[in-house]
Amino acid sequence: MRAEGIDVIGFGAGEPDFDTPLNIKQAAIQAIEKGFTKYTPVPGIDELRATIAKKLEKDNHLVYRPSEVIVSCGAKHALFNVFMALFEEGDEVIVAAPYWETFLEQIQLTGATPVLVRTDEATEFQVTRELLEPVLTPRTKGLVLNTPSNPTGAVISREHLKEIAALAVEKNIYIISDETYEKLVYEDAEHVSIGSLNPEVKELTVTVGALSKSYSMTGWRIGYAAGPGDVIKAMINLQSQSTSNPTSIAQKAALEALTGPEDSLVEMRREFLKRRDYMVQELRAMEGVSCIKPKGAFYVFPRISAFHGRKYHDQVIANSKDLASYLLNEARVAVIPGEACGSDQHLRLSYALSMEHIEKGLKRIREALGKLS
Ligand code: PLP
Repeated sequence: MRAEGIDVIGFGAGEPDFDTPLNIKQAAIQAIEKGFTKYTPVPGIDELRATIAKKLEKDNHLVYRPSEVIVSCGAKHALFNVFMALFEEGDEVIVAAPYWETFLEQIQLTGATPVLVRTDEATEFQVTRELLEPVLTPRTKGLVLNTPSNPTGAVISREHLKEIAALAVEKNIYIISDETYEKLVYEDAEHVSIGSLNPEVKELTVTVGALSKSYSMTGWRIGYAAGPGDVIKAMINLQSQSTSNPTSIAQKAALEALTGPEDSLVEMRREFLKRRDYMVQELRAMEGVSCIKPKGAFYVFPRISAFHGRKYHDQVIANSKDLASYLLNEARVAVIPGEACGSDQHLRLSYALSMEHIEKGLKRIREALGKLS
């Protein structure tokens, strides 16, 4: 529609709308100028692996040797490597819904079966031991956690993580902890890495992170994983025969991101907080919409099930996809139907767009929802 010149406001973005900070870009330019443009070791340059290990110790209270860290082409690639290394046909891997769809697709690519547990507003989309216990079977091999969460923005509390960690140790289940949004937590919310809770759970945990969202570096494709040496070794073997190293220049940029000033991140977080509060306030004011205040990431996940069954002329809104299509066609606003994230009762709206566009977009949504009867 945009290509046709139609003014569409997009709430679908999965990436910050801020530019990559200048110091990071300059590090990449310098890398090119110095000819740092050749193959690097498959799991990343030693200096970057060591820097990530230091970062994990400082920020996440996770102590790893650099050899227990692998740098990959984004968190998505790190996740693919870890799933391929750990799971195969016959295994069951638990994923909490609402989810980021890639988890399901990647687990299925290994031949394993994703098993869903459902979280909702009643518990602020927290994953709990109580939810997990009923779905455990002798085939359960892994559990995927994503905190802060895409799409709900939920940040799993330390208390819940402690109980989940105890369960994983009791049942000998691997935990894949996707902490891609770890730097984007607001106010008093605390990001906790489950692997840091005790030495036994650390042995079962692979922590996945990325520079993509924290440093506005989605296009640079740098993510990483840290975990038990044998798992990381298998991931390196797989990476060696598939992509080889992540881009040399992007690795130098990542080094600067992790060691340089964090002013841009602080500023971005401040701006996101302002937008989140505005979005939640405006959505809550719309008839038929309810919305919890997410503690992390840059998404809100309003419940819109009150509109299922409503009509615009003779067009019936049967599900979240219909509502998203209606909003696109009638209000020229793009949102993600919750169905794509495992909950037809919701929409996902990103606030990685300017305040001006947020205001305009929400006004359009309010008017369009008001026309449904
Ligand atoms: N994990 C989650 C939960 C995400 O939402 C995303 C991107 O949307 C990723 C991982 C992928 O990150 P990257 O761009 O580093 O591959």
